[in-house]
This record gives sequence, structure tokens and C-alpha cells, in this order.
Amino acid sequence: MKTLGLLGGMSWESTVTYYQIINETVKEELGGLHSAKILLYSVDFAEIEAHQASGAWDKSAEALGNAAKRLEKAGADYLVICTNTMHKVAPQIQSQISIPLIHIADATADALEDAGVKTVALLGTKYTMTQDFYKDKLTDRGIQVLVPDGPDIETVNRVIYDELCRGIISPASRASYVEIIGKLKDKGAQGVILGCTEIGLLIRPEDSPLPVFDTTVIHAKKAAHMAIA
Ligand code: GLU
Repeated sequence: MKTLGLLGGMSWESTVTYYQIINETVKEELGGLHSAKILLYSVDFAEIEAHQASGAWDKSAEALGNAAKRLEKAGADYLVICTNTMHKVAPQIQSQISIPLIHIADATADALEDAGVKTVALLGTKYTMTQDFYKDKLTDRGIQVLVPDGPDIETVNRVIYDELCRGIISPASRASYVEIIGKLKDKGAQGVILGCTEIGLLIRPEDSPLPVFDTTVIHAKKAAHMAIA
């Protein structure tokens, strides 16, 4: 079994889910007392968020690159960055290490292709919804991406940073998300990407008017399968 190097803490609320799903997947596949070989480097998210807010993506790339190098040195065979947003600096992180990075948007595009989804709604941080680093990975594969309009982008983003990354799960915010997903369904989306690793804590498949593609589940399962391949 290969060792997975998790770059987590962004936020730790969803890193917990990664740890759980990876271990559950290995248990399902291998049975018995098998569990995953995992190294975890968990950052202080306040430092990363401050760099995001000031647009200092180069500082995040440096900090996360250093953490990735430490995971490689400690024996990780694969790097798993446990957040969608920080894949903005995935190329800079990959350039500092020689182990492969399992990209969350590639894993998500695979899942969408398998499900035959051609037009998809994307919910995530404002960086993920409005910038190209994430959407390009999907459009390059021929998948059309729909994002909420301006005020809804603000709502989705605010709930992530003010609530979900702080462990706050609010029924009112769940209702707002469901309404926003409904609007994107009306615009032609066939599924919705929960493109922030904490959204699955708020929106369960049964809450959503569209089939859900939860990036945390997709990414963690892919990493587990690669570790035992
Ligand atoms: N975990 C979130 C994501 O998947 C947001 C936190 C972050 O900015 O990294 O994008």
C-alpha cells in the first residue's frame, strides 16, 4: 500500500472527513483490519486565509510547497491537497516536489464524465467560482460550468468562511444553498459540484434539487483507490 500525504487544515473541519473516507474506502476494499497509510500536514488556516484575502497567492504557494516537501521527505507517495481553492497554486506546489499530486478537479471531472453530466453547477469559494484555475479543468474536458450570479456568489462564499470553516451548520444557510442550486437547475445544470470541501457538511444528497458531486468524497475515494492500486 502506498502512503498518502495529506495537506490539510483548510479547514480542519473537512480534513476530518478526508481521514474518515480514506480509511473507510481502504477498509471496504481490503477488509479485515486494513487501514490507510497517511501522513498529515495540517496548517493554521488563519495564515492561509489571510494570504487569500490579500491576494498573496505566492506566499500560500511557498507555505504549502514547504509543507508538501516535508510530506515527501517523510515518505508520502502521493500528495493530496484537501481543499479546492488552494489548487489555485497546485502547479507551484507540484513544481517543488517529485511525487504526483492527485488533483481534485481532475478527479471531479472523471466523476462527471462517468455520470454523463455535460452542464454542471459549481458552488465553492468566490475564488473557485469566479477564477479560471478550477473551471478550466472542467471546460477543457467539454463540461459546461454554471456559477451563481453576483449576490449568490457572496452568500455561498460567506457561509463557507463565516460558518462551515468554523464548524457552524445552519438550517437557514442550507435553505439558501438549496435555493441557489434550484436556480442553477433552472438554467440547465444537470448536477452540482460541491466545490468546497466543507459544503458536504451542510448539503447532503437528499437536500439537493440536483445530483450532488461532493469533491471531498470524490477526491478522498480516488486517493484511497490510488494508494491500494
Ligand atoms: N475548503 C474550502 C475549499 O475546498 C475552502 C477553504 C479554502 O479556502 O481553502 O475550497
